[in-house]
Amino acid sequence: MIIEYHRPDTLESALELLQRETPLTVPLGGGSVLNQPSDSAVAVVDLQNLELNTIKKTSNTLNLGASVTLQQFLETPIILSALTKAIKHEATYNRRQVATLAGSLVACNGRSPLSAAFLALDAHIILLPGEERIGVGDLLPLRKKILKGRLITEISVPVNVKFAYEYVARSPADLPIVSVSATQWSNGRTRIVLGGYGPAPILALDGVQDQDQALTAIENAFFSAGDQWASTEYRVHTAKILAKRCLKTFKE
Ligand SMILES: Cc1cc2nc3c(=O)[nH]c(=O)nc-3n(C[C@H](O)[C@H](O)[C@H](O)COP(=O)(O)OP(=O)(O)OC[C@H]3O[C@@H](n4cnc5c(N)ncnc54)[C@H](O)[C@@H]3O)c2cc1C
Repeated sequence: MIIEYHRPDTLESALELLQRETPLTVPLGGGSVLNQPSDSAVAVVDLQNLELNTIKKTSNTLNLGASVTLQQFLETPIILSALTKAIKHEATYNRRQVATLAGSLVACNGRSPLSAAFLALDAHIILLPGEERIGVGDLLPLRKKILKGRLITEISVPVNVKFAYEYVARSPADLPIVSVSATQWSNGRTRIVLGGYGPAPILALDGVQDQDQALTAIENAFFSAGDQWASTEYRVHTAKILAKRCLKTFKE
């Protein structure tokens, strides 16, 4: 339940509100999660007047404001085509108009295609106060702790890379039961991220491309990935097939 609503015009006032001891005060992006009925009482700081919705390209990086919506990101001309697939898979057209990049990242679970893509791309975030820059891989497991009283202002992703996203779901529009997101840099560095399970996507491999090594890494990362949707054996078997498909696209 939202008990207080604030819409500050400066980052300083936003941070002042977020750092209050009581009531618990959190940033409000698109509000698609925070507006859901909930038993916990929170004060919200609406970010819409803070100009965090810009997209800038600097040499090989895309710097995305935390409040950029999924649809705005999708409509960016400089975007990898497989990333388009992951964004469309993340949310329907209506939800994409509202949901922000930071909100989607913070509220994600392991089935989130966009967060898996950010992790595979080795995306980094900027956190205030302190302008701290950390990898999405460091944020996801410790979100609650890291974000207490803090604000994500920017997410940066590389643009000079190859990216692939493959998934299996109950229906084409449903969120994945198993997904593989892979990124390859020009020097051969390859990151493979598994999705469809658990509280956050899982980084399986960050190294040079070697298919056998990638398949072993998938077995290790999904060593205990059974739930009501699929068994560990199914997930490992399927993820290996999807990873081979991703790696094949890098050779084309
Ligand atoms: C019906 C429905 C179904 C959904 N199903 C799924 C699902 O299956 N899987 C899934 O992963 N998600 C699901 N979601 C979640 C949702 O789609 C996304 O997480 C959404 O994109 C959140 O974005 P937002 O900007 O609206 O977030 P908000 O609701 O504004 O915020 C979400 C969280 O992020 C924090 N936050 C927002 N901006 C910042 C910032 N700049 N810095 C720090 N913290 C910030 C907020 O404090 C809050 O904790 C669902 C949502 C709805 C409404």
